[in-house]
Amino acid sequence: MTKYTKKEFDKLLKERLNSEYGTTLDVASNQQIYRALAIIARRLMSAQHKKFQSRAYGTGAKQVYYLCMEFLMGRSLKTSLFNLGLNEVAEAVLSDAGIKIESIYEEEPDAGLGNGGLGRLAACYLDGMATTGICGTGYSILYEYGIFKQKIVDGWQQEKADNWLPGGQVWLKSHPDQSIEIKFDGDIEESWEGSYHHVTHRHYNSVIAVPSDMYVQGYDGQGVAKLRLWQAKAPDFDMNSFNAGEYGSAITKNASAELISKILYPNDNHREGKILRLRQQYFLSAASIGDICQNHLSQWGSLDTLPEKAAIQLNDTHPTLAIPELMRILLDECGYDWDKAFDICQRTFAYTNHTVMSEALEKWNLDIFRSTLPRIYSIVEEMDRRCRADFEKAFPGDWGKINYMAILGDNQVRMANICCYVCHSINGVSKLHSQIIKDSVFHDYYLYKPQAFKNVTNGIAYRRWLLASNPGLTKLLSETIGEGFKHDASQLSKLNAYKNDKTVLKALEDVKKANKVEFASYLEKTTGQVIDPNSIFDCQVKRMHEYKRQHLNALNIAAQYLYLKDHPNAEFAPKTYIFGAKAAPGYYMAKQMIRLICKLGDLIDADPAVREKLRVVYLEDYNVSLSERLMPASEVSEQISLAGTEASGTGNMKFMLNGAVTLGTLDGANVEIAAAAGKENEIIFGMLTEEVNQMKATGYHPTMFINSDEVAMEVLNFLEKGWNGESFHEVVNNLRTSDPYMVMADFKDYRRAQADVQKLYADRTRWNQMSLANIANSGVFSADRSVLDYARDIWGAHPVK
Ligand SMILES: *Cc1c(COP(=O)(O)O)cnc(C)c1O
Repeated sequence: MTKYTKKEFDKLLKERLNSEYGTTLDVASNQQIYRALAIIARRLMSAQHKKFQSRAYGTGAKQVYYLCMEFLMGRSLKTSLFNLGLNEVAEAVLSDAGIKIESIYEEEPDAGLGNGGLGRLAACYLDGMATTGICGTGYSILYEYGIFKQKIVDGWQQEKADNWLPGGQVWLKSHPDQSIEIKFDGDIEESWEGSYHHVTHRHYNSVIAVPSDMYVQGYDGQGVAKLRLWQAKAPDFDMNSFNAGEYGSAITKNASAELISKILYPNDNHREGKILRLRQQYFLSAASIGDICQNHLSQWGSLDTLPEKAAIQLNDTHPTLAIPELMRILLDECGYDWDKAFDICQRTFAYTNHTVMSEALEKWNLDIFRSTLPRIYSIVEEMDRRCRADFEKAFPGDWGKINYMAILGDNQVRMANICCYVCHSINGVSKLHSQIIKDSVFHDYYLYKPQAFKNVTNGIAYRRWLLASNPGLTKLLSETIGEGFKHDASQLSKLNAYKNDKTVLKALEDVKKANKVEFASYLEKTTGQVIDPNSIFDCQVKRMHEYKRQHLNALNIAAQYLYLKDHPNAEFAPKTYIFGAKAAPGYYMAKQMIRLICKLGDLIDADPAVREKLRVVYLEDYNVSLSERLMPASEVSEQISLAGTEASGTGNMKFMLNGAVTLGTLDGANVEIAAAAGKENEIIFGMLTEEVNQMKATGYHPTMFINSDEVAMEVLNFLEKGWNGESFHEVVNNLRTSDPYMVMADFKDYRRAQADVQKLYADRTRWNQMSLANIANSGVFSADRSVLDYARDIWGAHPVK
């Protein structure tokens, strides 16, 4: 990779500023400097990508295509410069001109093309593929509006449109020459010519998918990943309608085509049954499959070899239609017979499941599906007919099983069943979750094709949350264990040798303290809220959702408040509870939970008797950039979902890497985090998955837990009554009557665990040791490791040398 001296980089930047804006470094605005640096980085990565890919094709390396409706990229400038090895030289050049590079980074908007964990995982895997030298391309939609920006007004969430392109487009290069036509609606006409089956799609509406590319540079190496984002454009303006005087219809056609890439649906772990969402899904699937086939054909001449040269990973069921779309191309456009086409699909596609909750499992109404995608429907129908025949051979006469496993049923198209029937690999995202899908949701498919079921535990682009976000810890680590951990996260384990080293433990505490001071000052500067860096920073940041149980955290805060009111002189380590979460705009209960947390914070803040000991802050607009600021300052990582509901979690990994102690249930990857760091270095509470299942089977009644627990009763009564004319009876009623995520069953043990936090924190050496154990054993949660697991166990891909 080209290395630049300070002088060379200075020249490069000045040339760019001059050619783009006709300006010079001393008078350029921060925005102009940001753009100039972004263009420099993008061009270097684009050139590097070209070299990397030609080397890859030269060696016949397998291409990995990662399809996902969401890529939560966050900012790119800092990590691109880091991974290009240009961050120091850029900082020095700017510093000479009297400019702080941090203020340039602040100019960049977050690319928020995702909701939360799922989209962030996809972004982390591009970084992992680039760094490990796997040829990776991500495909998604170029949403004009990303995830909404959140404001909290008097405890209520308000959503503001996220118009990110004006600042973000500088990373994108459009390639209109590589556009793909996508056909919707209309009807199909089938005919036979001897044994040759003709299908004609008539009266369809076309949408043009125009690609724009951005790049992700691997750390200090040759690898670069590409993210290809599709934008929906109307085909040439419909002159016929226009000339016929149908102005309205001509214009509507135009607008409805372009609506497809207008906005990201803001639902996390919840399906959206709208036709526009189905159109988005097919748009992404068909554009990407069209592009993959064209690449493959231009390189190898025939789709016969697709499974040897390409692996397509479907990240969740959202891009499932890629499967029938590839079938369509093989059957209708290339003349393959069904069996040969199906065999190619089976060996090419792999599927990652991300949730077992039924409200998130993707299903489409048959009639909507058929009228929107007539040819795809007829392929899916044939697939259903054949899968039923196959299942009958495997499970003769077991109609319950066959109907449950079938692709069509209950007047719906079941996307997960298409994936399970076709894909050669079905993986969960943590050991526990991969076991659960075999035991429950996909149990019958597990019996049918056990060899397809796999696990790849999630991982994070750890350099983003360590090297680029926590310079204090990075420096301490370099001085203690050398530089190797920057390339190879497993080398973090060298820190274990220092677990009894007083100097290192104290240095770790000092780094954390400095980061807390820094975060407190950022918070005060940006929001006016004052928090005490000497208090424990206890954080729960993630999407707002009942299954994640932010209300369990809130109940404990209320209990602590009532306790401190009764016992003003009690010994109590001061605590700052930090929340950050967006709720889906239509998710009523989640919005009530936000209001509860905010109002609890206001109540405490207005009470001089408790405010020095307890504080609650709600961070507005939690996003990737905010998480990069918070993680270094965190001490307690709240991972308190009901066991069996969080597939993996990745926030838990970011916290662990930064030395926070997990206060959590044995759910998702928490199980592996506790195993890696040692159970004694986390604070675990609550029911196990088996206990949850047991309790559900015998019938769960929250009152059983409430009536035998005085604190629970007192807290619920307190919240139900409310204060200052506000009540929280919706949340309380829900917990008293249905409590679908068994908050009340875990409440008592959660309070015990919170009390343990207080005790453990009082012994600072012990706490620092726990923190050290977390950092030292977090290496396995690197996305580099995850990607190499996928490459070995699923893709059959190898790093390009
Ligand atoms: C990591 C991350 C998430 C995922 O958090 P979980 O706790 O795993 O749900 C969500 N949103 C953002 C912005 C993130 O960076």
